[in-house]
Amino acid sequence: MTSTDQQPFLSVRDLKVHFSTEDGIVKAVDGLSFDVIKGQTLGIVGESGSGKSVTNLTILGLHDRARTAIEGEILLDGKELLSASEKELERLRGNKMSMIFQDALASLSPYHTIGTQIGEVYRKHTGASKKEARARAIEMLKRVGIPQPEVRVDDYPHLFSGGMRQRAMIAMALVCDPELLIADEPTTALDVTVQAQIMDLLKDLQQEFGTAIVFITHDLGVIADIADDVLVMYGGRCVERGTKQEVLRAPQHPYTVGLLSSMPSLDGPVDVPLLPIPGTPPSLLNPPTGCRFHPRCLFADKVPNGLCATEQPALQVVDGRGSACHLTDGQRREYFADLTAVRHN
Ligand code: SF4
Repeated sequence: MTSTDQQPFLSVRDLKVHFSTEDGIVKAVDGLSFDVIKGQTLGIVGESGSGKSVTNLTILGLHDRARTAIEGEILLDGKELLSASEKELERLRGNKMSMIFQDALASLSPYHTIGTQIGEVYRKHTGASKKEARARAIEMLKRVGIPQPEVRVDDYPHLFSGGMRQRAMIAMALVCDPELLIADEPTTALDVTVQAQIMDLLKDLQQEFGTAIVFITHDLGVIADIADDVLVMYGGRCVERGTKQEVLRAPQHPYTVGLLSSMPSLDGPVDVPLLPIPGTPPSLLNPPTGCRFHPRCLFADKVPNGLCATEQPALQVVDGRGSACHLTDGQRREYFADLTAVRHN
């Protein structure tokens, strides 16, 4: 989905992830495809339950295998992951791919020092000695901007502030120089200043190592800052994709328009009312028929013959740009102009 002609480092093809629960089958991801190349960031945006986190846990092989049915293809540097053994995936996690979670405190063990935890990941994947691993942990803490890393390496996580814990987790995720980094809402729990510092850090590290990043968020402001390409998910499906500029400046799907219209703009007029999306995200046990967004869509009645409620719109993609909606291009131009002009940079 990128405009460059580089080979994708991560390629996801028609991914379906369905869980069995006591209440029935949850179709958490229902036919998703995307590519990420080295040195670029794909932002995946959507509300809770849109399937974005499930997608990434599946890429890492961290899903519950016993209760999950998966179809499709996930290629990491040409290697098929869905058929890889647990041992192989464990080798790849850390070496080739790594993940930063939202909650660093829950992800770090309270019983071991920061240095031990970073060092253990390094030792496991490289066979380094304890001394080498400690030196590497100090080097990584320094690289992510922890002051006095030679001292703080022996601290336990509770002695770190929220922002420092997140930095430590980034250090742990990057200790083996992974080529793919999946960041799942990594800055959501942090205040705005620390959030900006973490984003700058990720961008610097990406420049230094050429890492491919998948950045998951519900926040289009974060997407505007960090992403090259954007994929918008709704109800387990991709509803829109394109470059950051295309999606944020000229959205094609009413859901993306809704996300943009419910977000304040710093450089637009201050008296423009925010327009929250009505209703709640769909149940993935019993998703709506037709377009999954139709019960919440302000434009469903513009499409003739009640098509939105009966027929699922196909995702039409040309050169990485596209959306899944029955509206015509002319209708979009007419209906979205006012809504999008006011607050998109
Ligand atoms: Fe709205 Fe219909 Fe487009 Fe779905 S297909 S987003 S309901 S206009």
